[in-house]
Amino acid sequence: MERFAIIGFGCAGYHALEAIRETDKEARVDVYSDTALPPYNPMLTTYYVAGRLPYEGLFPFGTLEDIAQRLDAHIITNTKVTAVKAGERTVVLSDGREERYDKLLVSTGATAFVPGSFADLKRAFCMRTVDDAVALHDALERREYKDAVIVGASMVGIKVAELLYKRGCHVTLADMAPHIFALAAYPEVSEMIEDRLRNMGIDLAFGQAIAGAEEHDDGTTTVKLADGSSIDTELLVLNIGTRAATGILSPDEVTVERGIVVNDHMETSVPGIYAAGDCCQGNNLQSGQTQIIGLWANAGTQGRAAGRNMAGAMGESDGNILHNITHFLDMDFIGLGDNRLTGEVKTFRSEDGGFYLQAVLKDGKPVGFNILDNYGVSGILKAYLIKVLRGERPVFSAEQRGQLVRFGLSENFIDELGAAL
Ligand SMILES: Cc1cc2nc3c(=O)[nH]c(=O)nc-3n(C[C@H](O)[C@H](O)[C@H](O)COP(=O)(O)OP(=O)(O)OC[C@H]3O[C@@H](n4cnc5c(N)ncnc54)[C@H](O)[C@@H]3O)c2cc1C
Repeated sequence: MERFAIIGFGCAGYHALEAIRETDKEARVDVYSDTALPPYNPMLTTYYVAGRLPYEGLFPFGTLEDIAQRLDAHIITNTKVTAVKAGERTVVLSDGREERYDKLLVSTGATAFVPGSFADLKRAFCMRTVDDAVALHDALERREYKDAVIVGASMVGIKVAELLYKRGCHVTLADMAPHIFALAAYPEVSEMIEDRLRNMGIDLAFGQAIAGAEEHDDGTTTVKLADGSSIDTELLVLNIGTRAATGILSPDEVTVERGIVVNDHMETSVPGIYAAGDCCQGNNLQSGQTQIIGLWANAGTQGRAAGRNMAGAMGESDGNILHNITHFLDMDFIGLGDNRLTGEVKTFRSEDGGFYLQAVLKDGKPVGFNILDNYGVSGILKAYLIKVLRGERPVFSAEQRGQLVRFGLSENFIDELGAAL
């Protein structure tokens, strides 16, 4: 009987297990998890902290007992895999035991990155895991914070800013980058969002490094900026970024760059070892290179593709593009494609000013879109962009045109996008 192992039980690991079982009902599947929790959705952590989601809502796939029974898996909890011995086809567990596998999936996700200058802080919070969410949730239950500094103006940072702002906290959002959503938004769109945030009373400290922070006995923290200025705060939340959790693999055996490098079958440089989700670099359709695409839906598709391949039902992951969809403070922001690519800019603004779209075209073809306050058009525009990248003839069907118009885009603008090709 074949023996599969899955290391890390998040979105990617769960979908891989499900895909294995669709093809192979007999094989033994060992799932190693360093927590005792069912697979959770990190995207929902801020909703839990905000009191908008009950604790159980963090776990979209059910309890561990239910999953183990439904998908016939040996789920080994509270057990960190400390190393993979690719040559011997074994995994080394935190208690020193070694277990054999025939095929292995590494789906260890990513961890919150805390730079050395913040490493000694006792009272700063992060936002990645259920434990992080519970810690911030409980701290907010225990006392009322008048102000907060959130480091990292990313999709995660803005959600934390939102929940604290809605609790009446004065929020400062800080980032080394000159603008909010530096990895997804065009500067003009960032500026529009920043104007709205300032109008709400949220302070922005962008464009300079955060040099460090000092905690005081009275419970406050001084955040020091690179220009010598500082901000005193009662609450510090760090969302500086994430790092792919790749440490259990030896780079001498398996190719690891920023993430574990995989091919379209989600297989690493070592046959029989697969990787999926935030720990790996899959195909970015736009750059044609492998890249970490740290998105929930992407982790699911990659996990499924890995599971299918492990079980022998060949399946490729189609690759993906960078895309961010986020709702915060009564705004929707959607970024599609690599925002570093420049070219001809086309913009659309609805008459009531409530919907703004910026498209960037290179050699007459769209390479990216930013959308403010209209998620209805995003699916069609994403599909359109992917068609362009695949070299297919990109046309809007009559139904898609109708939908774009219904969601507020003008016929003229749709023609402009199409006419550019
Ligand atoms: C606050 C927040 C907001 C987000 N918002 C969005 C969003 O709006 N849209 C979007 O698409 N994505 C969003 N994301 C990203 C999305 O949640 C991730 O891309 C996705 O959860 C990745 O799934 P994964 O299975 O690869 O990794 P994870 O969910 O990180 O799961 C990996 C699991 O492996 C375990 N593990 C790690 N190492 C070991 C080991 N050595 N041994 C055993 N177990 C191990 C970990 O404990 C973890 O349980 C957000 C993330 C956060 C934190």
